[in-house]
Amino acid sequence: MEEKKTQIADNLLLYLEFMKGAGIDVIPASKPAKPSSLPTPIEAVKPPPEENIKMKPKNKSITSLEDIVAELGDCKRCKLSAGRNKIVFGEGDPKATILFIGEGPGKDEDEQGRPFVGRAGQLLTDIIEKGMKIKREEVYICNLVKCRPPENRNPEKDEIAACRPFLDKQIKSVSPKVIIALGKLASSTLAGREVKITQERGEWFDYEGIKVMPTYHPSYLLRNYTPTARKDVFEDVKKVLAYIG
Ligand code: SF4
Repeated sequence: MEEKKTQIADNLLLYLEFMKGAGIDVIPASKPAKPSSLPTPIEAVKPPPEENIKMKPKNKSITSLEDIVAELGDCKRCKLSAGRNKIVFGEGDPKATILFIGEGPGKDEDEQGRPFVGRAGQLLTDIIEKGMKIKREEVYICNLVKCRPPENRNPEKDEIAACRPFLDKQIKSVSPKVIIALGKLASSTLAGREVKITQERGEWFDYEGIKVMPTYHPSYLLRNYTPTARKDVFEDVKKVLAYIG
C-alpha cells in the first residue's frame, strides 16, 4: 500500500514537471475533477532503461548518416536551396530508439544548421527532457526538408519529394523503434494520405514496419497555448514510452 502511494506521488510529480516543461505553471482548480475525468495514471511515463535507448540491431547494409550527408553535398535538388544559409540535416543519437520528424527548418535552424533550436525547439526539448525524461542527445531529430522554406511557409510537395530520398535513408540508417511525427505535414507524408491531426493524433500507424505516433507540432502548441493541447501531447508521448518499455 505504502509502495503504491509512493508510486502515485512519483507519477504525479512527473506529470507536473511535464506540464511545467510545456509552459503550464498553473493548474486550474475551479472545480474538483471527477475521478473519471482525471488524467489516467501515468505509470507508463518512466524513463526507458538505458539499454533500450542504445541497443539497436546492426545491419551493415544500411547507409551511415555520414555517407548520406556526403551524398547530399551542397544540395540544389529543389528550389529551397536558393534561400538557405545552412542545410539542416538532423542531429542526435545515430541509433536512437525514438526519431522525431518535423516539417522544415526555421530562421534559427537555418542560421545554426541544427534542427529545432528556436522557440518551438525549446518546447520540443522540454517535452523530451522534462516530459519523457530522456536526454535530447539520445533521440534523433530531423525534418521533412533540410532547407528553410521562405517566410517559414510549409514545404511544398515538390520540395518534400526532392528531399524524401534522404529522409528515407536517414530513417533506415537510424532504424528507430518509434517515429514521432510532429504535425499534420510530417504525419501526412509518412502516412501517404492526408492526416487530420486534430482527429488522428495519438493513433499509431505504420511506416515501413516502424510504428509512427502522430502528434501536434511544437509550433502549433506555441500558437494554441491551451492545457488541452499540451495534455494531448503528453498523452501521445506517454503511449510512446509505454510502447518502448
Ligand atoms: S530541401 Fe532537400 S532536396 Fe531541397 S535543396 Fe535542401 S537538401 Fe536539397
